[in-house]
Amino acid sequence: MQKPIHTLARIESRHNADVGGKYFEVALQLDEAVSYLPGQYLNIVLDGQRRSYSITNLPDESGRRVQLLIERLPGGLASRFLDTAPVGTPVEVVLPFGRLVPQTDKTVRHVLIATGSGIASLRPIAEWLCRQNGHTTFLLWGLRRRENIFWKDVFDRLAAEHDTFRYDITLSQPDDEWNGRVGRVTDHLADITFDATSYFYLCGGKPMLDDMRALLKQHAVPPAHILTEQFHV
Ligand SMILES: Cc1cc2nc3c(=O)[nH]c(=O)nc-3n(C[C@H](O)[C@H](O)[C@H](O)COP(=O)(O)OP(=O)(O)OC[C@H]3O[C@@H](n4cnc5c(N)ncnc54)[C@H](O)[C@@H]3O)c2cc1C
Repeated sequence: MQKPIHTLARIESRHNADVGGKYFEVALQLDEAVSYLPGQYLNIVLDGQRRSYSITNLPDESGRRVQLLIERLPGGLASRFLDTAPVGTPVEVVLPFGRLVPQTDKTVRHVLIATGSGIASLRPIAEWLCRQNGHTTFLLWGLRRRENIFWKDVFDRLAAEHDTFRYDITLSQPDDEWNGRVGRVTDHLADITFDATSYFYLCGGKPMLDDMRALLKQHAVPPAHILTEQFHV
């Protein structure tokens, strides 16, 4: 893995991700080319404080453009800065970090489970796994409401182009028009096919990670096959 480097990035563009306006995407242009693995993240340094954000795009040819998916948090230092700073604003970044990366040596079955913005680190892993022969991926993503859904076009396209990829969304606060899965991601583990060699990639808040780890333990999944990234407490 590449050692983290400290460099500058400029805000290149941003747009809302979901119709509800809970999430936005921001693209940064790095001063230096950096190589990183799918699922890794960067730190931005603001007022001497660091905040981590997963890199949602696979490395491009230049190695200098990274995209982030950010949840808007009222009063949030970094999320507000990335939401409001004018395009072209420079920001200090350190990257890459993270061990939630595809594991393809010992398994061909991958189960990706995210809640909310946790999808940010799992999207590139899903896209990368789809390019590897013989690997199957199931992605389960938990969100609150229908208007919070984004990247459906991305996952629909992956599923249409790769019969090795399937995904499902579950909503904890569905409306009458929703006819998909309902409840928390932990409610749906029984429907997921996995075997003793499968790897689980979990990304989201601490409650989901704790509950999912406990469930996977009951299903005798070895802790070494559970990779996690905790975004918040
Ligand atoms: C490895 C890693 C990767 C991450 N990747 C992403 C990512 O891709 N996208 C993303 O949006 N976030 C991601 N996060 C979370 C991110 O680093 C920040 O913690 C988050 O954006 C809040 O920072 P802030 O400066 O805006 O808010 P702060 O100023 O730190 O906090 C503002 C308020 O929001 C509360 N708060 C902080 N974080 C959350 C949260 N996640 N949910 C609800 N309330 C919260 C705080 O308790 C406080 O009350 C990641 C975290 C880690 C550790």
